[in-house]
Amino acid sequence: MDYCTPYAWDPTVWGAPFVAAMMNLDSQTDMYDTYMAPCTSQTDIGGYLDTSPEYPNGIGATTRGLFLCTKKVASNSTTCDQGLLVVNTSLLTSYEQRQKTFCHEIGHAAGLTHGSTYGGCMVSGSSTNVTYSAHHVAHINANY
Ligand SMILES: [Zn+2]
Repeated sequence: MDYCTPYAWDPTVWGAPFVAAMMNLDSQTDMYDTYMAPCTSQTDIGGYLDTSPEYPNGIGATTRGLFLCTKKVASNSTTCDQGLLVVNTSLLTSYEQRQKTFCHEIGHAAGLTHGSTYGGCMVSGSSTNVTYSAHHVAHINANY
């Protein structure tokens, strides 16, 4: 899964937890990630800050992050090929919260839904859990 930020991010505050979450996807699952700069029309995940003028819709005051699938692997598939990841710069005040939200939204990009019973970073709401549960790892490995 390759990823990029169409507009430059603060590398320490935002870049580092994004990279850490992508590297966690590598280490926990069969997936392999590549940072792509610049972004191309083929990049799987484009990351945006909610304050970016290029993401004018905002994401809502109480939404920590979201993933919008813009292209599925096939029209009859639920597996996403490409999409936009957006994070809330006001709510995510610690490194751990940022990495948890990246883990969560990357999980959506890899086809996961919410799973409070399975724990890990796919739970909704405030958390600092930055890894996938074994259940969710199995889903990702089955999807790709
Ligand atoms: Zn979610």
